[in-house]
Amino acid sequence: MTATSRPSQNVIMPDKDRFLGEENPFEAMMSRFDFAAKTLNLEPGLYKILRHPEKQIIVSVPVQRDNGEVDVYTGYRVLYNTSRGPAKGGIRFDLQVTLDEVKALAAWMTWKCAVVNLPFGGAKGGVVCDPSTMSNAELEKLTRRYTSAIIETLGPDSDVPAPDVNTNERVMAWVMDTYSMHKRHTVTAVVTGKPVEMGGSLGRREATGRGCMIVTREALKKLGMKLQGTKVVVQGFGNVGSIAAELMEREGMTIIAVSDKSGGIYNPKGLVVADVLAHVRQNKFLKGYPKAQAISNEEILELPCDVLVPAALENVITAKNAGNIKAKIICEGANGPTTAGADKILNEKGIFVIPDILANAGGVTVSYFEWVQDRGGYFWDEETVNNRLERIMVRSFGEVTSMADRYKVDNRIGAYMLAIDRVAAVHRLRGMYA
Ligand code: NAD
Repeated sequence: MTATSRPSQNVIMPDKDRFLGEENPFEAMMSRFDFAAKTLNLEPGLYKILRHPEKQIIVSVPVQRDNGEVDVYTGYRVLYNTSRGPAKGGIRFDLQVTLDEVKALAAWMTWKCAVVNLPFGGAKGGVVCDPSTMSNAELEKLTRRYTSAIIETLGPDSDVPAPDVNTNERVMAWVMDTYSMHKRHTVTAVVTGKPVEMGGSLGRREATGRGCMIVTREALKKLGMKLQGTKVVVQGFGNVGSIAAELMEREGMTIIAVSDKSGGIYNPKGLVVADVLAHVRQNKFLKGYPKAQAISNEEILELPCDVLVPAALENVITAKNAGNIKAKIICEGANGPTTAGADKILNEKGIFVIPDILANAGGVTVSYFEWVQDRGGYFWDEETVNNRLERIMVRSFGEVTSMADRYKVDNRIGAYMLAIDRVAAVHRLRGMYA
């Protein structure tokens, strides 16, 4: 390329040096980021900085299996941006983990923490493995060796992991113990989502579902719709979906359908969530629940309802099915359930989308409370946790929708704009270390 044909340094130019598929998670995140950055008129220099992860770590994690053989797993930790504070983001154990996915999730964590105005940056970690084929002892070895491989980045002031897909309180306890053994003293604030007995927070388990309920209530209020009898469909009946369903029902909404890996159940008159939960406790899955009709995971998304809560996987609402969605409100409990192609169609249909980086931010908000409690050594009762969470979710909902109204963009772009604006403001104040 000659000097004259070089693109101007003063315009925002997305990287086009490699091809990324439409459903590539990093591309899905970046297509929204680009639009929001342009609408905000972000300076090109800052645009370039925010489009690149700060640090990407790749490690090999050897584990001696129970049968004596050695396997070596690949692990990642990406710190996307730490301008606002320590990096925050989960660790997932999954065969689908790739560096692009971890990068996208780390960027999402950056924007999510900024949307709810927490003093955190964003990170994510993952190990490519199939935990369902590993014993508890093997998982513990994997966790401890991965933790020690990335230990230089970890710390309450630098990088604070949490549970994500296929990791849980148990895994966080091993991360915390490994880190503490290296430091020669107990450091509870190095991870969140820990068991309550060892520095976890009350209300953390319910926090993401509770956040979904709160922002849905705010959306109904904004659209002039009543809570009582609002018909809700929930895809995914795990931590987020089942708790959102339970709390929405408690507020007076009617849950007409839910689904999990085994398929969905539908009763247009309404399900009794406690009864469905009892069935799942006994049978592990929803399949076979007697007081409703069976429905597939694809059909459930297209049911006539007021609120749809995708709370399972990425990329379930796409350009292919968005036109068939009948909900008036979509509350994104899962991360990345809607593709960029679907956004356009949902907008045209006038569906009010509460984007993931706002809708499911209740989890990281209570993780922040956990970190604060660990550092202060003073623990709050559950009512205090829930009240503080509610204040943050209500305020953030108002800030995102005001941004969207002001710039005449959808809520997702409004949320990205709010987040990018907050991260960019800190970069301007801090200046660039050279
Ligand atoms: P989970 O493992 O507890 O539950 C996942 C649920 O989805 C299960 O009921 C599972 O059966 C169901 N599922 C799996 N494949 C499915 C399919 N093909 N169709 C329908 N359902 C399917 O996980 P979770 O913690 O509830 O997380 C769900 C989503 O929410 C993920 O995208 C996660 O990243 C996101 N999220 C979770 C939290 C949190 O605090 N747990 C916070 C923010 C975002």
